Amino acid sequence: MNVALLLGDPVKHSLSPVMQNAAFRACGLDWQYELHETSRERLKETIVHLRSNGFASANVTIPHKEAVVEFLDDITDHASQIGAVNTIIKRDGRLIGDNTDVYGFTQSLRDAAVELRGIRAVVLGAGGAARAATFALAEQGAERITIINRTEPRAVKLAHDLWNHFPKLNVEVGAISSITTAHLIVNATSVGMSPNEDASPMHWSFPRGATAVDLVYRPLQTKFLRDAERAGVRPISGISMLVYQGAAAFKLWTGQDAPIDLMLEQAMRALRNREA
Ligand code: NAP
Repeated sequence: MNVALLLGDPVKHSLSPVMQNAAFRACGLDWQYELHETSRERLKETIVHLRSNGFASANVTIPHKEAVVEFLDDITDHASQIGAVNTIIKRDGRLIGDNTDVYGFTQSLRDAAVELRGIRAVVLGAGGAARAATFALAEQGAERITIINRTEPRAVKLAHDLWNHFPKLNVEVGAISSITTAHLIVNATSVGMSPNEDASPMHWSFPRGATAVDLVYRPLQTKFLRDAERAGVRPISGISMLVYQGAAAFKLWTGQDAPIDLMLEQAMRALRNREA
């Protein structure tokens, strides 16, 4: 049996085992997806452990997407550009880091018919998820990206990395005044994630006619999305991104197309059961 692990802290909330194990079963694959709560201190030794037989691959989540890079044998150009890894593939005993969050973000907005070309976006956060969202927005031709983060130097670093790859992109850090003219507001912080369901990182009014995307998917209706809807702003949950990034990881690990509809159905069912 091949075992895929989810490395992160916390991971208890994750829907990935439900989604990936259903996909493995549906495709007749002898694979098992397991949670592996990993503290910052134990990340390096966990990666060493991953090299032993029996482990086929892994996903990486909060807070290790950037820190894990230095412990891998190689990372793809795509993950290197973004500076964050969410998927590890084992090839000939070597651990290769890749990033499927950019694809997940882009595809989820494409599914919702949200135009990204030429838009002005505000991204709250500057961690691994914010890196994926901002690089996706830049790749899709966004006109302006404003990054707002609690720890400003982290946002400045992300802005510099974006400029390195997209020299003509209009990137701002901490420009609160840009919110009023934004088309898209993205919550890429972990604020509002269960059990802190009454918290939101959006301390300003939502701009009229905008779209709000919350990468937090548990609960489905976060305070950020509830406030957006109340302000007449279209709310989009991160559940779709979760499924698309997971489907892309599934393909990288197994070489097979993932049963996306089944993964979404399983993830939604698990979420509703937990919320009931
Ligand atoms: P991360 O690298 O640890 O970054 C966390 C971000 O949240 C940082 O910007 C951090 O700000 C900010 N933050 C945390 N607590 C805060 C607080 N109390 N007040 C203000 N800001 C706070 O984590 P990540 O990997 O980017 O993940 C962020 C969220 O996105 C998580 O909830 C994760 O589950 C979700 N996510 C969802 C998907 C999906 O497919 N839907 C994919 C990836 C991630 P500082 O820099 O100041 O610490």
